[in-house]
Order: sequence, then C-alpha cells, then structure tokens
Amino acid sequence: MKTLFIKLWAAALPLAFGLISYSQHTSALAAEPSAVILMYHRFGEGALPSTNISIPQLEDHITALREGGHTVVPLDHVVAALRGERTLPDKAIAITVDDAYRSFLNQGWPRFKAAGFPVTLFVATEGVDAGYRDLLSWTEIRDLQAEGVTIGAHSHTHAHYVSLSNDEVQQDLRDMKASFESALGKVPDLYAFPYGEAGLADTAAVRDAGFTAAFGQHSGAAGPLNDPFYLPRFALNESFGNAGRFRLIINTLPLPVADISPPEPVLVDNPPAMSLTLAESLPNISDLTCFGPRGQSLAPAIDGGQVRLTPSEPFPAGRTRINCTLRSVVPESEGRWHWFGWQMIAGFKTEGAPVHSRFQ
Ligand SMILES: [Zn+2]
Repeated sequence: MKTLFIKLWAAALPLAFGLISYSQHTSALAAEPSAVILMYHRFGEGALPSTNISIPQLEDHITALREGGHTVVPLDHVVAALRGERTLPDKAIAITVDDAYRSFLNQGWPRFKAAGFPVTLFVATEGVDAGYRDLLSWTEIRDLQAEGVTIGAHSHTHAHYVSLSNDEVQQDLRDMKASFESALGKVPDLYAFPYGEAGLADTAAVRDAGFTAAFGQHSGAAGPLNDPFYLPRFALNESFGNAGRFRLIINTLPLPVADISPPEPVLVDNPPAMSLTLAESLPNISDLTCFGPRGQSLAPAIDGGQVRLTPSEPFPAGRTRINCTLRSVVPESEGRWHWFGWQMIAGFKTEGAPVHSRFQ
C-alpha cells in the first residue's frame, strides 16, 4: 500500500509541479493591470470614413461595452494603474477622442455622457485659437470640461513631429502650453502625438515638458511594460469599427513585451531586423502570429523569450505598423487575445546623424 502510494505520488509529482507553475504563471498575468484605450475622431460624418464612426456603429460600441462586463474608466486612472499607483477592474476601457471636431460635441459626447462613460478629448491648440469652423471653440471646450470631459494635449500645429527638428518640437510644445494656459488656465497632464508619430526624441521631449503620459495610434492593449510616453490606442473608424472587430479588441490583453529592437520608431534600416523580448513566457507562445502593414506574415521565430521578426520586404514609406496577436489559453482569460502593436516611420534618409537633425 505504502509502495503504491509512493508510486502514485511520484507519478503525480511532475503534474503537481506543472500545475503549480502554471497557476503561478496565470495568477501573475492576472495581477497585472491592463486596459484597452479606444481612439475616435469624428462622429456621424460619413463623408470622411477614414476618421469617422457612424452613429449606428457608435451606438453598437456603447451597447457592447455595457453588456460585455467592461468598465469605462478615466484615462488618468489607466496611467496611474500602469505606474502601480492604483488598481483597475478587469476589462478596463478608456475612451479618447482626438482633434475636437464639432461632431464630438453634437453626436459623440451626448451618447457617451448618457452612458456614463468618461472621455478624454485631445486638443491641438492652433486650430482652435484660429477659430477653424469644424473645430470646437474654446468656450465649447470649457463647457465640455465643466460637464466632465478631460482635456488632453495634442500639439499646437498638429505637425508630424518626426519631420520637425528638436527645436521646432520644443517650440510647438511651448506654444501649445501657452495656448492652454490662456484658454483653460492650466496645461493638461496627458499628451497624444499627432498621427501617433513619435521618435525617441519626441517621447523624451514630451516627458521633459512635464506630461505624465503620452499616446500613439498603434493597436494593442496597454500594460505596465509599455513605454508610458508611447502608449497604444486602438483607432476606430468606419472600417475598423465593425461589430465583430470591436468586440474582439475590447477584450484584448497586453502581450508581455518588455523590450523592442530597434527601439527607435523612426527606422534607419528598412526593412529592420526586429525582435521582441518577452518578460514571461506564455503556454502557447509558439502560436504567436505577427503581421506587417500589408497583412504579410513577419514569420516570428521564437527562442525562449526572444521573438525575431523578419520582414521579407521594406516597409512602405511613412507610418507603418506591425501587429502581433496570440489567443489566450489560460483559464482566467481563455478566448481573449493578447495584442501587441507598434508604429514606425519608414522612408526617411537618416544615415549618419541623429534622427532629428536630418529633418531641419
Ligand atoms: Zn489629431
């Protein structure tokens, strides 16, 4: 009897250890705060489908968030949680809107407000100062702020920062701050890069300017391993805002990418030799798929915690994105997708000098 017990125990040992390490692994993942940050521009402006969401789509999004067990939280709660300063509910969502188009006031905000969803509106100041007709006025922006909308910063001129010199970026940030000071009495805490374009010098400039976090326009769920000055957001428009995709993205989780190479989003080599370093392994990491900007496979080669990506052809000039996804198989999040995206700028001739000095 004793022998049998020992044999059974010995046979169970690897399984027991397997279960222990598996459950430690899954609870570590579950303990990490994460959030999905959504980005909109225009609402019900069907003539501009690439930056617009239709009203039926928007209403479907609100229904999906209400019925899917999600909690829409203020964006600064996400930022604080990723810094370890507060907790987030499971399936935390933050809503952002860029550019302060009039249709946010007339169409978007009334629906978000009725649903009780907080929103951050990223404002580029020069156009508002100039009184452009399809942008909100400062009076309207102050009224939205009084109704609970958080105002974020989105540059002064809405320039492509990677095409500016460092001095020009600094000047743009100074002009923007002066404009916010004058119009709202305060500079916002959060910043979103125009077009989501940022090189390392730009993320550093925004950090040094005193902002607490900054956002791009690359897809992916946000987690503590992301650079807090280049956080991902899922851009929603008429093609990317369909019901099926929306329900998929609002349930995504971060992929635990601790490091990306090359770290500079403004590419010197094209195609780049890319690799991702994972902070921890996932049980089915061999199923990871990664795609380039034309949907082409990047043939991920996985070796321990290293994922090497080998684009077979140069990325097209301008903004270019990669996306890596992996379906979760752990019990707490089974069926949800880990999603990591990254935006780069290709096609600038940058040999031999710091990135920014080239574009002066
Ligand atoms: Zn914008």
